[in-house]
Amino acid sequence: MSDKYQSFSQSPIGKLLVKNLGLPAPMALERYTAGAPLVEGTVVTGGTGRLAESLPGLLDTLGVASTDVPDETSTYKGLVFDATGLTSAEQLSALRDFFTPLMRRLATCPRVVVLGTPPEQVSGSERVAQRALEGFTRSLGKEIGRGGTVQLVYVAEGAEAATTSTLGFLLSPKSAYVSGQVVRIGATGTTEAGTVDDLLRPLQGKVALVTGASRGIGEQIARVLHRDGATVVGVDVPQAASELQSLMKELDGDWLTLDITGKDAPQRIAHHLAEKHGGVDVVVHNAGITRDKKLANMGEDRWDSVIAVNLTAPERISRELLDQGVVNAGGSIIGVASIAGIAGNVGQTNYATSKAGVIGLVDSLKDELRDGITVNAVAPGFIVTQMTAAVPFATREVGQRLNAMAQGGLPVDVAETIAWYASPGSTAVNGNVVRVCGQMMLGA
Ligand code: NAD
Repeated sequence: MSDKYQSFSQSPIGKLLVKNLGLPAPMALERYTAGAPLVEGTVVTGGTGRLAESLPGLLDTLGVASTDVPDETSTYKGLVFDATGLTSAEQLSALRDFFTPLMRRLATCPRVVVLGTPPEQVSGSERVAQRALEGFTRSLGKEIGRGGTVQLVYVAEGAEAATTSTLGFLLSPKSAYVSGQVVRIGATGTTEAGTVDDLLRPLQGKVALVTGASRGIGEQIARVLHRDGATVVGVDVPQAASELQSLMKELDGDWLTLDITGKDAPQRIAHHLAEKHGGVDVVVHNAGITRDKKLANMGEDRWDSVIAVNLTAPERISRELLDQGVVNAGGSIIGVASIAGIAGNVGQTNYATSKAGVIGLVDSLKDELRDGITVNAVAPGFIVTQMTAAVPFATREVGQRLNAMAQGGLPVDVAETIAWYASPGSTAVNGNVVRVCGQMMLGA
């Protein structure tokens, strides 16, 4: 599953052709290795809003070096700009003033984060200015290059101290394939920061349910949550029992083989988690299927099976676990949507309906959850798995290149995003749908 074009584009002849023909030049993205510092280099902070003063301290708790007085010669790994102080369109020039001199001074795979106030929480010219930040960050994401990422984080009033886990994720290689995203902290639910005792093992003592855990993205989710300290309970269909068991044994986890669409599946899962683990802290609805056909040729089976696995099962399981009180206080429910559910895709009316429904599930649960329980979703773009390896060459090439990173993402990129939502430090991160798509150029 290696990316042959990427290797070629980095060879001497490849580099020449890429330059002269204006072809995409995918950069080898940095990814996180367990135990490594979150940021290898210094982050420059700027801006004059609600967070500016506390930023150096927040970064320090993450072990991240920062400065607000960049020198003339150094290169920097990240830039964090507090734009919460911008209250009118005229003041948006502060963005240019801060960023322009620093754009040529960035190391490879740099990270940029702009902090704003959720526009819906302010009014008048301030609302205009805060909404404008989205165009700035989405465009900078498309032009930054060299494996860089750019995000906008809207921090609600009172949620300033709750930004740490999000900054740790967005400034580190854990967010390698996440760019051009808008994250809301404290916009719904609590504005309080949750506590993380051990930065390297934030999920120590927690129990995580992962559906479809035997392979692909689900396997990586299980591995990353285990790395972060969780006891993983993997679920998969009986046909995948031996892969599931050997992975869960390797991760000192537990397993349950069942079809999540089964009538009694929600009750069986709830019973298992309550009896054997005393509840669950993290629920990841990863299991999913595709049964592509244009709507004109869509049989009832294809439609029903995709909706049942991808949407009805996550909804029924979530509600059963919540109704039975099996989800522990401070827990997190995480859906796996898809960019197809946002932008649509030919041959995927069934799949896109199910995945947009997953976003609907986030919306429907986010205001009704209590006890600090959160609900969020990831929306992966082109992720290199067995599923996408089967896609015909030309379609695969287009899918892989038409994003700001000019390459497909890896299952671990989706898993790291899920681990950020799952962290007890992310209790104020609720109701978000973050795309893990290298900032796809097409679609919504
Ligand atoms: P995959 O086919 O490799 O793995 C899916 C897993 O879910 C398998 O282990 C399968 O046995 C399990 N599963 C399927 N139906 C089940 C059922 N009824 N009960 C229990 N388990 C069941 O797929 P993947 O590429 O790893 O995708 C994982 C998730 O990510 C899916 O929800 C998929 O829609 C989503 N996604 C993937 C991509 C991509 O590019 N690979 C893009 C967007 C979204």
